[in-house]
Formats: sequence, structure tokens, C-alpha cells
Amino acid sequence: MQSVRYKRTEWNTIRVIKRKLVNFRSGYDVCPTVLDIHPVKNTCNLDCQWCIGRNSIETAEFMKWEKLKQVFDRIFIPEQKMHWPSEVHYCGHNSEPLLNHDLVINSMKYLKSKDVILSIITNGICLEKYLEKGNEIYLVDKLSVSLDVVNDAHFKEFKKPKADTSIDSILKSIETINRNKDKHNPGLTTFVTFVATPGTYAKQEWADFFVRLKDIGVNHVRVRNDYTCFDKDFYNDVKNDIQQIAKEMDADCISYSRNPPFDLEYKEFWPRNEKCRHCFGLRLWCTISADFRLYSCAHVASQLYKPLVDLNENNDWYDIYLERNNDDFERKPVELCDGHCPSTMYYLNHAEVLDGV
Ligand code: SF4
Ligand code: SF4
Repeated sequence: MQSVRYKRTEWNTIRVIKRKLVNFRSGYDVCPTVLDIHPVKNTCNLDCQWCIGRNSIETAEFMKWEKLKQVFDRIFIPEQKMHWPSEVHYCGHNSEPLLNHDLVINSMKYLKSKDVILSIITNGICLEKYLEKGNEIYLVDKLSVSLDVVNDAHFKEFKKPKADTSIDSILKSIETINRNKDKHNPGLTTFVTFVATPGTYAKQEWADFFVRLKDIGVNHVRVRNDYTCFDKDFYNDVKNDIQQIAKEMDADCISYSRNPPFDLEYKEFWPRNEKCRHCFGLRLWCTISADFRLYSCAHVASQLYKPLVDLNENNDWYDIYLERNNDDFERKPVELCDGHCPSTMYYLNHAEVLDGV
């Protein structure tokens, strides 16, 4: 089995996962292709109303680069190149990853030398500081900024910044990155994401804002529902609005088959009540928490759940993965979690998806 990396970062996530699933179903051992890293635990510079980690009672923690390097050295072994992850995402479910500047920059340099695709999912506030400190932020290939709202009044009311900041200053950072990316990393694409809620959404105001984002070089805009709001009529209207706005802006839904000039898409996700039959998180898209425990997805990477292993204990990455009983990977996470999977895992964990591969 050969690991494949697609040159165009837009293609990589879905295509490599699909390919790994085919290999898995053919009886090969498969190691995760996407690695989520949580550089920070339970510390954020915002307090968003819809944050899934809002009520977290975990101890705050910052991941240490020296320790992460030891873990990476056990993953990126030259003889195991065919099993290396092809993408690493810096994110967090109750934390802002960019608060850990040294870890993010040092680890991005390490991973870039291994040809890994790098993604950051951030609220955007720290980008200004990163740009002041140097050009390393341009090492990232996919920069996703969760802006969620389009005006400062809503920013203050629904996201409660802990320091003085504004939407304009976040947009300024995104604009700077887009303006200079040809010099540093022409393949870099930028995403801006929104959570539509009855309290924040207004069609014309959001449509005008999307035009502004397009003007500053943003490639993808995604609007999603608030997982805690079940007003389906409201979301039907939002969906129709976004489709209409996309048409007016001549913007398709996200296309992975062409260069991304500008896309606008609405994505809906309703948590299910019934449990998943199996979970492919540990096999395909796992999470290393700030305290170096290995979990099956970002949503369960906390002390409330049981990790598969503790990476502090010098576990050999390939002993964890190769020739391991699949029950550990597929069933145990499902027994331990409440089944509210992140959106990609939600689809992968459905049998119908697998049947179509
Ligand atoms: S920025 Fe993200 S982690 Fe921080 S409060 Fe908002 S949703 Fe939660
Ligand atoms: S929430 Fe979904 S993806 Fe996460 S561990 Fe549970 S079944 Fe797996």
C-alpha cells in the first residue's frame, strides 16, 4: 500500500481518506491520514455562545513543543513514510490554537520539511500578532477563520472577546495574508466560516459582507447551523438565501476539482440521537490533545472521555496502529462517546458512506 498525497491541498483530505477506506476494506492496516493537534486546552480569547466546549471544566494546559517533537519523531520515521499523516490540523474544541505561538510555529516548520499539508482553524484574533512576529504564518496551507458574525455589536454580544478587538482587525489580517501569499506560499487558501443563528443572521447584511470577503481574496465561505438551535424553518430559509446569494455572486458550492477563486456554501448538521455503529476517527482522523492523549475525534478529546493511549508513555506510533484488533478502533470510541461526531466523521461513520466507497 502506498500513501498518496495530492498536490492540490483542496483535494487531499477527502481523496486520501477515501483511498484509505478502500485500503482498509481490502484488509490493509491503515494509520490516520489527518491528525488534529490541540495546542491549547480550555483557554480561549472568546466565549462564543455556540461553543461546544463552553462548559468544559478541564484544567487549562498549553502543549509543549519539546514533547510534541518527540511524538512527531515517533510518527515521521523514514522507513514508515507510506503511513505518515498527509495533513495536520491545529484546532481545539474549547481553546484557541494560535494562543500557543511557539508550538504552532516550531511544529509547522518541522512538518513542512516532511511535506505535510498544514491547516489552522482559528478565531482569527491572534493572526495580527503572528504577522507582526514574522512570515512563518505563511507556512499554513489552509487557513480557516471562524468569524461567525458580521458586525461588531454581534461580535461583542455573542462572542464576548476578552480583549479589545474588532471584526475589521481580523479582516485586515486576512487581507494582508492574501495580499502577500504569492510571495510566501501561493497554494495557501483561506476559509471564513459563519454560524447562522436567529439572533445574528440578516440576509442582505450577510450578502454584503460576503462581497467584502471576496474582495479581500477569501476563497471559501461556509455558513452552518448552530447545533444547539433546532428551528428547522429558520434554517430552510437560510439555506435558500445562501443558495440565492451564491448565484448572484456567481459562486458555486465548494468544488474540489478546480482552482478555488471563490465559493459560498451552506452546510447543515443535526446531531443524531442514536449511536454510531462504528467510528473511523482513530483510524483515519484522530486527535492529540494538549496533554498528549490520543482520541478518536476532536469532540471527545477531553478528560471526560477515555483516550485510546497516553502518548506521554512513549508508545510507538506504529505499534499502536499496525496489526491492531479493529474492535479497539471501531467500537470502543462509540461506547464511550455520545455520538455527536464532527461533520466529516459523521458521514464516514454511516455505513451507507462506506458501501459507496
Ligand atoms: S473561538 Fe472557538 S474555542 Fe473559542 S469560545 Fe469560540 S467556539 Fe469556543
Ligand atoms: S463522536 Fe463520532 S467521531 Fe467522535 S468518537 Fe464518537 S463516534 Fe467517533
